[in-house]
Amino acid sequence: MSINETKSEEFHKTALIIGSGVGGLSLGIRLQSLGFKTTILEKLDGPGGRAYTKKIKGFIFDMGPTVITVPFFIEELFSLEIGRDNLNLPDFSSESLKSKNIENTSTRKYVEIIPIKPFYRIYFHDKTYFDYDGDPENTRRQIKDIEASDLEGYEKFHRDAEAIFKRGFLELGYTFFNSASEMFKVLPDLLKLDAVRSLFSFTSKYFKSEKLRQVFSFETLLIGGNPLSVPAIYSMIHFVEKTWGVHYVMGGTGALIDGMLKKYHELGGEIKYNAEVEKISLSDKKTFFSKPSVSGVELKNGKKIKSNIVISNGDYANTYMKLINNKDRRWNKDWKIKRMSYSMSLVVIYFGFKSDKSLDLRHHNIILGPRYEELLSDIFNRKILAKDFSQYLHIPTITDKSLAPKGHHAAYTLIPVPNNASKIDWSVQGKILTDKVLSFLDNEGYIPGLQKNLVHSEFITPDYFENTLNSHLGNSFGVEPKLIHSAFFRPHNRSEDIKGLYLVGASSQPGAGTPSVMMSAKMTARALASDFENSIAAWKGK
Ligand SMILES: Cc1cc2nc3c(=O)[nH]c(=O)nc-3n(C[C@H](O)[C@H](O)[C@H](O)COP(=O)(O)OP(=O)(O)OC[C@H]3O[C@@H](n4cnc5c(N)ncnc54)[C@H](O)[C@@H]3O)c2cc1C
Repeated sequence: MSINETKSEEFHKTALIIGSGVGGLSLGIRLQSLGFKTTILEKLDGPGGRAYTKKIKGFIFDMGPTVITVPFFIEELFSLEIGRDNLNLPDFSSESLKSKNIENTSTRKYVEIIPIKPFYRIYFHDKTYFDYDGDPENTRRQIKDIEASDLEGYEKFHRDAEAIFKRGFLELGYTFFNSASEMFKVLPDLLKLDAVRSLFSFTSKYFKSEKLRQVFSFETLLIGGNPLSVPAIYSMIHFVEKTWGVHYVMGGTGALIDGMLKKYHELGGEIKYNAEVEKISLSDKKTFFSKPSVSGVELKNGKKIKSNIVISNGDYANTYMKLINNKDRRWNKDWKIKRMSYSMSLVVIYFGFKSDKSLDLRHHNIILGPRYEELLSDIFNRKILAKDFSQYLHIPTITDKSLAPKGHHAAYTLIPVPNNASKIDWSVQGKILTDKVLSFLDNEGYIPGLQKNLVHSEFITPDYFENTLNSHLGNSFGVEPKLIHSAFFRPHNRSEDIKGLYLVGASSQPGAGTPSVMMSAKMTARALASDFENSIAAWKGK
């Protein structure tokens, strides 16, 4: 009998997942395939969490993730069937995994995924740009135009970042760092690869040009990491994109969520909306020798649901501090949780506009402001709202006209801002920043005539992340990805405090971003499969 199992007959094969983000849905699909009877309890009126979809005036806005990478993680989910789980670690050396084309017919039944090029157009403050598409020749040509003497540095960067990708992603990506010894085993390798210094300082070793330092370090912002402080192990993102490309799901990321939900229902999973969990119920008290066990949850509407397995897809700090009494926890104490750093937050403006001319923009545009390092320090360290800003402008209707009425574009632009430790009054500043950004896009010629042609605009601020998505301090990406919050030091997918409690999603290992969150679901499913191996074996044997 394994560690979390009591008696086989006590295991009802029921599991409750709090939250229907990409992590919650991925885990739901996995648990159904393993024979669990799973119910997802979602606070909102629809699925997706950060990937929720807004539909208004004929526009479809994906509220969150838009850059889809590592498509075979999606393929793997759609290929699962009841009794045909797949908890094996992928063989990254296999040729089929290196293929960038989505050929898998089981995926096509749910979603259509297409590659996007360039991956990003990165505008510098002087309006020159760099189209990054993963092609070394195109990259070299553009580096030559910016700073020819950095070509040699690029070759070295490419080689060193590839070595980090091989060790950090291909070999260690799925490691569940449950103990410090597992972490210390890999540390010498990471030190040898220089992967623990800050990403920006790592890129600065190879590039003299400020512009190129920015091109090769900004990507961690898309998962809430400060390039000035995330470890250089995150240079692997560059290689993840180069190896498998950047993709788009036709119909938007909402179509991916719909596909996942369809798969989950087909496997027999249930989901309840408007079902906010207010408390995780425990059956025993903590003693010096034993930890309490999960016995179910209590919803805000007073309803109680029993289960000896509860998995939280919600924010780590919120799960422990708001749903479980501090005295019932030995390790994840309030004082420790409060001392951790939480990722930056965002103001995101969703807008639709009339457009009769073609736009001189790409599907994914990064528009950098006049300051890079100083702005990052304002956001992450000083926690002040700067006068200048950088943004990620997403215009999916350049690829997919179905997201807007004829002759219109649907877009969002995302501006990194400090989380709510800043005490900024967003009820005032949200509107001011939104107006400033929209007039910038118009007046600086990125979207000429935007204000005149605007049909719809609305925005969210850190308050949305804090109050609607229940994220501590309104963080947008969970616990900040820093060295001291990585691997073993990142919240564990199997709770060390409560028997039967697990975490999945951006706050837990390995981290934020849709591919990582899908990996997290596999790691949590592996932990559950090992804790309940006898019951699963008995179910499979029936
Ligand atoms: C604007 C934005 C853009 C992004 N862009 C990208 C991108 O391009 N590419 C990429 O890979 N990643 C991107 N990310 C990051 C990525 O979206 C997230 O890391 C990922 O979607 C998080 O998924 P998750 O499963 O951890 O949970 P979440 O999406 O955070 O979902 C958690 C769910 O739990 C629910 N919940 C919380 N508390 C309770 C409770 N008590 N009871 C019931 N339900 C509860 C919430 O309502 C929510 O639905 C972006 C994030 C944002 C915000």
